Amino acid sequence: MQIMYKGTRGEKSINSSEAIIKGIAEAGGLYIPNEFPKIDIPFSKLINYDYRQLSVYILKKYLTDFTKEEIEYCVNNAYDDKFEKGEIAPLVKVEEEFFLELYHGSTLAFKDMALSILPYLLKTACKKLNIKDEIVILTATSGDTGKAALQGFANVEGTKIIVFFPEKGVSSIQKAQMVTQQGENTHVVGIYGNFDDAQKAVKEIFNDKEFNNLLKDKKYMLSSANSINIGRLIPQVVYYVYSYLSMLKHGEIKEGESINVCVPTGNFGNILAAYYAKKMGLPINKLICASNENNVLCDFFNEGIYNKNREFKVTSSPSMDILVSSNLERLLYHISNGDEDLVSDLMKKLNMEGKYIINESMKEKLKDFYSGFANDKETYKIIENTFKDNGYLMDTHTAVAYKVYKDYKNAMNDNKKTIIVSTASPFKFPRDVCKALGIDNNDLNDFQLLYRLSSFTNINIPNSIRNIENREVIHNNLCKKEEIKSEIEKFLKV
Ligand SMILES: *Cc1c(COP(=O)(O)O)cnc(C)c1O
Repeated sequence: MQIMYKGTRGEKSINSSEAIIKGIAEAGGLYIPNEFPKIDIPFSKLINYDYRQLSVYILKKYLTDFTKEEIEYCVNNAYDDKFEKGEIAPLVKVEEEFFLELYHGSTLAFKDMALSILPYLLKTACKKLNIKDEIVILTATSGDTGKAALQGFANVEGTKIIVFFPEKGVSSIQKAQMVTQQGENTHVVGIYGNFDDAQKAVKEIFNDKEFNNLLKDKKYMLSSANSINIGRLIPQVVYYVYSYLSMLKHGEIKEGESINVCVPTGNFGNILAAYYAKKMGLPINKLICASNENNVLCDFFNEGIYNKNREFKVTSSPSMDILVSSNLERLLYHISNGDEDLVSDLMKKLNMEGKYIINESMKEKLKDFYSGFANDKETYKIIENTFKDNGYLMDTHTAVAYKVYKDYKNAMNDNKKTIIVSTASPFKFPRDVCKALGIDNNDLNDFQLLYRLSSFTNINIPNSIRNIENREVIHNNLCKKEEIKSEIEKFLKV
């Protein structure tokens, strides 16, 4: 079965190599598979697959124009000893819940799961299509994507990568990780504005035909490492299947038993991958979408109205400080049975009025989801209590999910086994985590706090950020959102 990728706004179908290279479709739509492949090997057999084998199996189902050898090459290069713990995606049981720790890659956030493999998928796709132009990865980041993409693409031949981050919207550790990035082909720029400003400006550049033609003349081709790229979305399906199998293997669930997954959500990529896993036949009961105080998604799931006209809040979970969740467009496509005119119309409304309302039949299909939100105070409280009671330390994003899950459990009286997706290392957000634990932190900077947190909790600082404060700052650029294009031109010398 050949899977093709079609744009959500009616753009024509292309194969997966082309979709990975293009990132976003011509009219601004996102690529979606024309069909959901099914898991067709019995779970009793799949439980013997390791993470890499399972990745090859799932990826081959979606990337049907890649050969098995090509996918193996990508998978084996991505999921190697870059991951600090022997296991790529460990599942840790705390009380009754299962924390799926996706942060043991080289940049300490779950973005590594997809961005470790995307450069290989992209290079392979270019080779298959005989593309000789240099690929320029353009990325807007709320903090974690930037570093994970830089790390993935640094020194990858035939590519350049440019990252824009909100100057005031990321933690000191996140910023230090990015501005110390080595690699001639990397460029990092802080912008005055928030993540939505950065994301919007970058999207406009992708849709700027004239600019793209100019780049084409200079033998450059733009692509995206943001979660709008299907090359990022699909590798994320793997860990949902893997964690289910892991529970099955350890006797925590019986074959066929359904589970819930609770995902701290921003751009809606991670939880959408869980939805894809469900569509492939993984027994998922509820997809619990956890928001912070930027609770646009929470309102959407509860009311069927998406409204970004509200105050943007800077919270203790900055990677979720987002008012426009790009990947929701894919869900709109799926729940409207592929009504591309309707999706285009809703996206136009979002752009013009900042708001849209979905119809009743779409609303009906949101029943796969439950959504809630947590504020900073609740986030701190649950970090503190979980550490006190169980000695388990989590970061602020994961804590948002855990709190929302507890609310769900109380409200719905549902005792199904649940996976809480743990998206970042607590050491990535030391100030907030220290604050949550009641560690006096006023006179210390974030780097000193790493040591403080480590000695308080008796947990080692992850290798990849140890001594980060002593590394040389390589990128010292700042621009206004109107200047993003000229920043790109400067770096590419066009
Ligand atoms: C990116 C990110 C999220 C949000 O994930 P989406 O796929 O954008 O919904 C949550 N937590 C952390 C730590 C992240 O880096």
